[in-house]
Amino acid sequence: MDDQALSEAQATSLMPWHREAIERLVGLAAQGKIPHAVLLSGARGTGKTASASWLTAQLLCVNKRGHACGRCDSCLLFQAGNHGDLRHLSPEEGKRAIGIDPVRDAIRFLQQTAGYGERKVLVVSPAEAMTTGAANALLKTLEEPSGNAIILLVSERPGDLPATVRSRCQTFVLPSPTQSESRLWLEQHSQFNVTDCARAIALAPEQPMTALQLLELNLLDEWETAAALCVSLIEGKITPNSAADQLNKWEPDALLLLMNQALESRVRESRPGNSRLAQRALRARDKVLRFLSAHRRGLNLSRDLMVRDCCQLLGSISA
Ligand SMILES: [Zn+2]
Repeated sequence: MDDQALSEAQATSLMPWHREAIERLVGLAAQGKIPHAVLLSGARGTGKTASASWLTAQLLCVNKRGHACGRCDSCLLFQAGNHGDLRHLSPEEGKRAIGIDPVRDAIRFLQQTAGYGERKVLVVSPAEAMTTGAANALLKTLEEPSGNAIILLVSERPGDLPATVRSRCQTFVLPSPTQSESRLWLEQHSQFNVTDCARAIALAPEQPMTALQLLELNLLDEWETAAALCVSLIEGKITPNSAADQLNKWEPDALLLLMNQALESRVRESRPGNSRLAQRALRARDKVLRFLSAHRRGLNLSRDLMVRDCCQLLGSISA
């Protein structure tokens, strides 16, 4: 699951915890000082895509009165999801990477004159999904975009982007919400009851978008079961093999996130006197995150082996 799967209602809205950073960009745009290449970095599930989309609407509006007017041709086309000066690059359906051909196509798009307002906008999300070839193809355009083009790279792991790409962008960090901000937002922006919102937030404390998806996809029970298995495994109450048998049907991305979270809770809950336990949990968490990163980069890992290795890691903490 990722930001792209979020519900339509949230597809274009400024997340309150991103307001300061995004408004700074809107202000720069109003003064004609917005950088041509912007890297929006922030944690997974925090609504980066929705905030980037909101920013895009402001950048495209032809009535330059600070914020998108909602009435001009540009705003209407944006709302209809049909704006000719906007291009969005994401992995194609069923793929995890953004290849070189769509990037070349987007570069040609940026070279054409804007049809409605004064600028063209390209959004690449998640930017780290670009293959090395795709990222290299974009370098020259990042350095010298044509006309008034603005390129927004949205990334939850900017460290996975080539340094050559990062150095050509100006980075704006989009902060994560606190757990209580997440819960409040979820209660106000979803039709789910307070109890279910609290359950979802407990599974994804600082990732309101992930929590929303759990609710919309009716995954609370399933995730709670898996989260409980991870905790039992860490506490040595079940064997790694038995846990792996029950967990290996899971989509690796979600499972590794749950394991990461169970390990982080373990670190937080470790008493000060038991720093060895906390250190083991931290080491295990780092390895789980490396698996997650490799998986998301599209490396061809055997799912079964990955789940078994991670279960061994979690099981070894209290051993
Ligand atoms: Zn407008």
